[in-house]
Amino acid sequence: MTDQYANFFCSLDVVMSLVKAGVPANSKWGALILYMRSISEYDYLSAEQKQQMQDLVMQIVRERDYSEVRFKEFVRLQEQILYKPWNKKLEEAFRETVGFIEHMRSQNIQRAKEVKDLRETTINTVRDQNALEDIVTEIRAAFEKVITHMEQDTRDLIEMSYTDPLTKLNNRRAFDRYFQTALAEHVVTGKPMSLLFFDIDHFKSFNDSYGHRIGDQALVTVAGKLMGYAHKYGTSPNRSFFPARFGGEEFVAVLPGVDLEEARSDAENLRAIIEDYNFIIRDHNGQVLQKGIKITVSVGAAELRPEWTDRHDDRLIDAADKAMFRAKTRGRNQVCTMNDC
Ligand code: GH3
Ligand code: MG
Ligand code: MG
Repeated sequence: MTDQYANFFCSLDVVMSLVKAGVPANSKWGALILYMRSISEYDYLSAEQKQQMQDLVMQIVRERDYSEVRFKEFVRLQEQILYKPWNKKLEEAFRETVGFIEHMRSQNIQRAKEVKDLRETTINTVRDQNALEDIVTEIRAAFEKVITHMEQDTRDLIEMSYTDPLTKLNNRRAFDRYFQTALAEHVVTGKPMSLLFFDIDHFKSFNDSYGHRIGDQALVTVAGKLMGYAHKYGTSPNRSFFPARFGGEEFVAVLPGVDLEEARSDAENLRAIIEDYNFIIRDHNGQVLQKGIKITVSVGAAELRPEWTDRHDDRLIDAADKAMFRAKTRGRNQVCTMNDC
């Protein structure tokens, strides 16, 4: 019996406990369970995904239904857990694209009408006016109006494509673009550059307690604090603060010209600003339903290291993300840097 699982290099205890739990010896079930147990060691999975995998294993063992149908179902469920973050990202991207298309469609209808009006204006002007100069002036004014609108459309679309629709903060696309430019500048100037990674604490429970719509309001509030801080910071050739929504309840800030100690102090300022804020829940009519609700964030700070010779972008994000994770494990609502905690 134990030979069936020998290839998985697991301890005899684990194998025996599977056998005791009634997992059939000559089936794929043993392999699946051992695989799912070992996956909990993998770094690329979040704690939530690992917990879900553990729960699934427990469910298998508890139900003792080792049929082929159930096997397929469990394979599907574990794939769902593994691919959930990507599916979510895809869903967000689709939602954003649909927004763009709807906006463009209404703009196109409006502009098509204006171009039709332009044709009418041109014909009428030529027919009704005698002086050539007047005709030219009038037609030129009509053209300029349409061109101005079209230029505004282009500006709007560019802004939309770089703005997170919910929080109005820079989105991931804007972050990627800014980050790459700032990295290229860093290579030329050699000035320091830091990155902050913010993650709202216990946000799932916040959603569970107050609902997703209020959760969305909380995201808008946190984004507003980051935006306010960026405005106060200002933009100078020496140092800048560029905040963005990284995804879900995670935010980042790129700090060109800022070293790790300064970045830590910015992170600490923002952590305190967010903690001090009294979040208010209102109903549809703006009536206050509940006040004094607290939101906190855990923050990771990292600075580009001179010894990094390649993949600066990935390394910096990774270092800030890992520092943020340490802030979580140390009790949340705190700042950790890549060098301490
Ligand atoms: P931790 O302190 O460890 O970060 O716990 P957490 O609950 O914040 O972390 P977890 O990653 O488990 O949950 C993140 C939650 O954020 C899950 C998801 O429902 C919520 N979330 C992500 N994006 C949005 C959004 O756009 N709106 C709302 N309302 N919730 C969101
Ligand atoms: Mg998170
Ligand atoms: Mg969180």
